[in-house]
Order: sequence, then C-alpha cells, then structure tokens
Amino acid sequence: MYYIAEVDKGICSAKNCHLCTQYCPESNCINYSEEDKSAYVSVDRCKACEICVYICSDIAKNDAIQMKWIDDLNEGFVIKKSGVVLR
Ligand code: SF4
Ligand code: SF4
Repeated sequence: MYYIAEVDKGICSAKNCHLCTQYCPESNCINYSEEDKSAYVSVDRCKACEICVYICSDIAKNDAIQMKWIDDLNEGFVIKKSGVVLR
C-alpha cells in the first residue's frame, strides 16, 4: 500500500483552475468534476508520483492537493479481489 493524492474540494472549487488535470501522467486519474467544481483523484489509478502536488502548490499556488496514506483518505476505500472500491 502507499500514498494517494487527495484534493481538498473546498479549496479547489474556489479556484477553478483545472491545471493539475493536464499534468498527471496517468490517464483518467485526476479529473475535474463539473458537478463539484473540483478536481478529484481516482484512487485505483494514482501512482503517487506527486506531480499534481507540485503543480497545485508550486505552480498554481493553491495548495489544494496533499499526499495521504491510503488508509487515511477522507472518503475511504475497501479492497476487493476485483480492485479498489470507494465506500
Ligand atoms: S491545480 Fe489545485 S486548485 Fe487547480 S484544479 Fe488542480 S487541485 Fe484544483
Ligand atoms: S500523484 Fe501522480 S499519479 Fe497520482 S494523481 Fe497526482 S499526478 Fe496523478
């Protein structure tokens, strides 16, 4: 197990910059929800490279993404033989 990028939706939705979604090297990993007006990370695709943290904090100056130990994600998760499922 490992760390996963997590977006603070409260901060992100106030910025509406979309920048991180253009730099994640994994396809369909960090996307933008028009409903939430926030970026979000697909837990089962994140490889913990931290590029999005650099983009959000150092380039966009928004500090909306943190790396979190997978057990500590706010929305939680369960692991099944078929993969990771959000609770
Ligand atoms: S770079 Fe940060 S503020 Fe901009 S969309 Fe991504 S998480 Fe939100
Ligand atoms: S840590 Fe890397 S793989 Fe995970 S969402 Fe950020 S840019 Fe994508």
